[in-house]
Amino acid sequence: MNDALPGTTASGLRRAWPRSVRARLALWFALGLLLVVSAYAAAVLVQVRDDLYEALDSQLEGDVALVTGWLRQAPAGDPSGLVMPMMSSSERTGGELPWLETWSGDGRRLSLAGPRPELPPMQGALASVQAGASSVRLSDGRRVRALVARATIGDRTIVVRVGRSEQAARHELQEFTAVLVFSLPLAFVIAAGAGYWLAGRALAPVSEMTARARRITAEHLEDRLPVEDPRDEFGQLATVINGALARLEHSFDTLRRFTADASHELRTPLTAIRSVGEIGLRERRSEADYREIVGSLLEEAERLTTLVDGLLMLSRADAGGIALRPIAVDLREVAQEVVADFGVLAEEKHQRLLVDGETEVLVSADRGTIRQALINLVDNAIKYSPDERTIVLRVARRDREVMIEVADDGPGIEPSHLPRIFDRFYRVDEARSRAAGGAGLGLSIARWAVEANGGRLTVESSPGQGSVFSIVLPVLERSSKENGHRAG
Ligand code: ADP
Repeated sequence: MNDALPGTTASGLRRAWPRSVRARLALWFALGLLLVVSAYAAAVLVQVRDDLYEALDSQLEGDVALVTGWLRQAPAGDPSGLVMPMMSSSERTGGELPWLETWSGDGRRLSLAGPRPELPPMQGALASVQAGASSVRLSDGRRVRALVARATIGDRTIVVRVGRSEQAARHELQEFTAVLVFSLPLAFVIAAGAGYWLAGRALAPVSEMTARARRITAEHLEDRLPVEDPRDEFGQLATVINGALARLEHSFDTLRRFTADASHELRTPLTAIRSVGEIGLRERRSEADYREIVGSLLEEAERLTTLVDGLLMLSRADAGGIALRPIAVDLREVAQEVVADFGVLAEEKHQRLLVDGETEVLVSADRGTIRQALINLVDNAIKYSPDERTIVLRVARRDREVMIEVADDGPGIEPSHLPRIFDRFYRVDEARSRAAGGAGLGLSIARWAVEANGGRLTVESSPGQGSVFSIVLPVLERSSKENGHRAG
């Protein structure tokens, strides 16, 4: 039972400790104030006590001076009669009679006056008794402040002991202590109340933020937290959260648009496959007709495959699921490879595909993704340029950057479309682009591929003047090339 007690107390305390920050702040505030006020009260109490005893002691010193003065005038007289005038000067002793004793140097008591019971005997031989003030206890338990002094009267040494009751001083001290002790809990309660109110005011923005944040859901991401003062802590917190909400809203919007666009894009070839199939089944046809129908079906399936491949690539890229392995890559070599791959396609349109510029330009990049970016650009150049035009892949080096340009003298792009052509599913001329087999993902994939390799993809184009798409990458120095080859 006893063993369980400490744990129980600790968990009890933990349970009693308030969960609300407002109550906790108020409690800490009140406890802190209680501590400070208690320390202050204790210091004041000690000071008051010292003051009271000092006043008592100086009264006793006055008494001794009175007695020795009187004895100097009447060395053989009995000073007991002085007790009454001494009493009249008493303030602190509450009108109580003082005690007065005189002793000769050899230990004989010369006089004794004052109330009963008398002062307790002095400790030790009179000659060795210490002069000075001390508190003594009477036989009835009362406390008396006694002052012992030695005086030389003529040729005699006289020991004078005067005492005054401490009762009044102690009573005053007790009253003062009681006032302090009773006012401390009151101060605690007032401090806790004031702290609770203050904390409530200070934390009001948090309550408002909580209420507002509760209303923000995936469907209401446009809502923002209230910012009363952007310079204070809560204002800064709300501003940071609002920034995060804005980014989240943007991501949600992009995702929503992407999903809607992707569904739309997927529907188009599926609808085409369905209607071509239905038309094919409607009546009996010749083998040539069936061949044509199957050909269109395959064409649509091809379009679907390209689209799904692009979507998969982008979603993997968004999820960070594509691991890049940078090695030293010669851009001219990649350009020549791509030109060789597209040779047949370009020939069909009687277009010329050329590689021009520097012979060996090295970059550190993931070969596969850079090649993909270049394929998409060359594919577009062939698709959108009319027959018999020339497309040039120019490799160049400028300062610490390397670029590979894909320049065509095709139709060019209107300035109003330029900023959007890298957006997913964006096409300048939807019908034309779809007819050419495009899903509007080529440039967004190319831009992702270049940026993932630390480069940038830019475009310069004007209607009727052709287009120049440039992949710009940081150059790789020769020494790092050697390392790259070794690593690769
Ligand atoms: P798509 O699959 O339609 O080609 P892209 O993302 O590759 O999609 O390109 C977006 C749009 O940019 C295209 O629909 C096209 O209108 C335009 N575009 C891209 N490259 C060229 C180019 N070389 N010449 C003219 N227009 C181009």
